[in-house]
Amino acid sequence: MDKDKELSKLKKKILKFNKNFPNKNLVFADGNKNSQVMIIGEAPGKAEDKLKKPFVGRAGKLLDELLNRIHLDRTKVYITNVVNYRPDKNRKPTLEEINEFKKLLFKHIEIIKPKCLLLLGATAATAVLNHKGPLSEVRGKFKNIKILNSYFDVVTTFHPAFLLRQNAKKNLAITDFLKLKKKFSSFNFKFF
Ligand code: URA
Repeated sequence: MDKDKELSKLKKKILKFNKNFPNKNLVFADGNKNSQVMIIGEAPGKAEDKLKKPFVGRAGKLLDELLNRIHLDRTKVYITNVVNYRPDKNRKPTLEEINEFKKLLFKHIEIIKPKCLLLLGATAATAVLNHKGPLSEVRGKFKNIKILNSYFDVVTTFHPAFLLRQNAKKNLAITDFLKLKKKFSSFNFKFF
């Protein structure tokens, strides 16, 4: 499969959803398309919409810091969101939007074909795990799940924007990132 070709086909499909998000930019992805670790957030904020890149605002800085703790950075992971446009007034995506974008996200995962998925927060857990209860029920637990035709090791942690408000939870997030490191170390992590 030619990843670049598939990714540009997917981008074109997502561009059609622009009509539902007037005056907003497509925020597709950042990082290394050959990484075995794919990180999924919720939706872009103001800074991301402006720069057309996921996780470039304050939450993004915290994500970078957590990645650094496990000796990773954006050149070694692939980052995207469930919804690829900034919802108006920074509201959370609706369940309808999550379900609409989920199909595109699954295609995105199929193209990147990582080994591990790191889900940041409830929106990503709803889209990927179909989890609608409290985040504590899934946080920090690895699951091996089938998406389209392949299996992936998936772990959920707090969204960095939540951690900016709840600094006391940061230690728990660090334990989740360490679990992720243990998992990808077990399969000889490579990103090229
Ligand atoms: N929050 C997200 O979920 N995604 C971003 O890209 C930025 C903030």
